[in-house]
Amino acid sequence: MSAGPPPAEGESDARWLRRTVELSRSCPPSDTAFSVGCAVVAADGTVLGEGYSRRDDPHDHAEEAALREVDADDPRLAGATLYSSLEPCSSRASRPLSCSALILATPVARVVFAWREPSVFVDCDGAERLRAAGRTVVERPDLADGVREVNAHLLG
Ligand SMILES: [Zn+2]
Repeated sequence: MSAGPPPAEGESDARWLRRTVELSRSCPPSDTAFSVGCAVVAADGTVLGEGYSRRDDPHDHAEEAALREVDADDPRLAGATLYSSLEPCSSRASRPLSCSALILATPVARVVFAWREPSVFVDCDGAERLRAAGRTVVERPDLADGVREVNAHLLG
């Protein structure tokens, strides 16, 4: 697995979020779902898992594709940061567990995303749910332009 700077507020978070936007460019196209990238990064900067929407299955969300690569018993998870280009979803039609619920099933303590999900498909309160459960949530709307560009065809 690749590595980069240890996750931290500021330029390190920005660097990893730009990586998730790059991952999202690999998503199979869709007119009904966002294209998202996700990376789970250990405290020392080691990438524990990466994913993007619809990678392994047409219903895949980026976070679940990334978490699928992670060993659930990996002790580094508790100190890891999950980066997602889009706010993790809080409800979904196609699968029983939202990405927020999948994240809360792990010990990942910190979640960083760039773009707060617009109410195109469903109302999302993923950030609030994660915060309410005691996880640190960082929003970087200054990096949302790249995410909007990848999803421009959905925004009309
Ligand atoms: Zn999701």
